[in-house]
Amino acid sequence: MKRILSGMRPTGKLHLGHYTGALENWIALQHDFENYHLVADWHVLTTSLNTSSVYEDTIDMVIDWLAAGLDPIKSPMFRQSRVKEHTELHLILSMLITVNRLERNPTVKDQIRDLNIENITYGHLGYPVLQAADILLYKGDFVPVGEDQVPHIEIARELARRFNQTFGPVFPEPEPKLTQFSRLVGLDGNAKMSKSLGNALLLSDDPETVKLKLRKAVTDPQKMRKGDPGRPEICLVFSYHRKYNQDECQEISADCKSGKLGCVDCKLRCASRISEFLDPIIERRKHYEANKDEVISILCHGEECARKVAQKTMDEVHNLIGMG
Ligand code: ATP
Ligand code: MG
Repeated sequence: MKRILSGMRPTGKLHLGHYTGALENWIALQHDFENYHLVADWHVLTTSLNTSSVYEDTIDMVIDWLAAGLDPIKSPMFRQSRVKEHTELHLILSMLITVNRLERNPTVKDQIRDLNIENITYGHLGYPVLQAADILLYKGDFVPVGEDQVPHIEIARELARRFNQTFGPVFPEPEPKLTQFSRLVGLDGNAKMSKSLGNALLLSDDPETVKLKLRKAVTDPQKMRKGDPGRPEICLVFSYHRKYNQDECQEISADCKSGKLGCVDCKLRCASRISEFLDPIIERRKHYEANKDEVISILCHGEECARKVAQKTMDEVHNLIGMG
């Protein structure tokens, strides 16, 4: 059976971008693949040395995974920091790639711009190498991620090839698996919905919050009032309709263009569709919030499963490198 490996940094409660870009695919694919999903907690250090909330953020994120429908038996979930082999393979892989190659990574360039980073650390630049270790350790064939991560998967492919050529064949070259909405726009119009940019709708937002956040969303600047013709193709609210209100999309597009539908009503309709989608997730979330011990034991079980696979891979690696 082909393997899937994917993860997320524990940045707390998830947003719709995480869902439409990645989690939706994890859930859809979990029946046909052998899955491993990691809480990329070491990766938190790349952008912040304040780790005081990592534990809470991990629980919050895993609750969202479970509430959205990830099955802990089919899809073991584990903390990267609990499986030591990640850092070991990262060290070996870091010898197989140049600084120059890492500096050409467009995702890091975007982060430097968005987060106003003046001096990037060695570890942040090497983020994709640790990510490659995360994937290759499990011999992942496919990696379901959002579009922003595709350059990182390319680096993992290069590292797999480089290792295999240098030491012997161990790793498959992982391929990205994208969803139809592999880059969800933020509420402020930024190309990426992101928690750090404060432009996100959370999976745990109640209907009032969804309504409030959408009310402030940026729409077509040429459509000043109801009656003005709008351009749905450039409107981020319409992009949400395309995902969460597929049945009414054509009608909304036509009514926006003709001026029959104003932005206020359009946003209200969008908010209620999104909340209909979120409602069962929020319901299931309550169960895990009241039973956090269950979440911890799911992680501990996942870590046992992950460790077995990781140790087996590292045995092969050690033997090939001659340090068995
Ligand atoms: P944030 O940017 O909100 O702080 P993050 O950058 O910490 O979150 P990542 O760990 O980088 O989150 O992303 C987790 C997964 O979610 C990745 O596969 C990524 O591609 C996907 N993802 C995150 N945001 C979006 C988005 N707006 N649209 C599509 N996919 C997304
Ligand atoms: Mg990110």
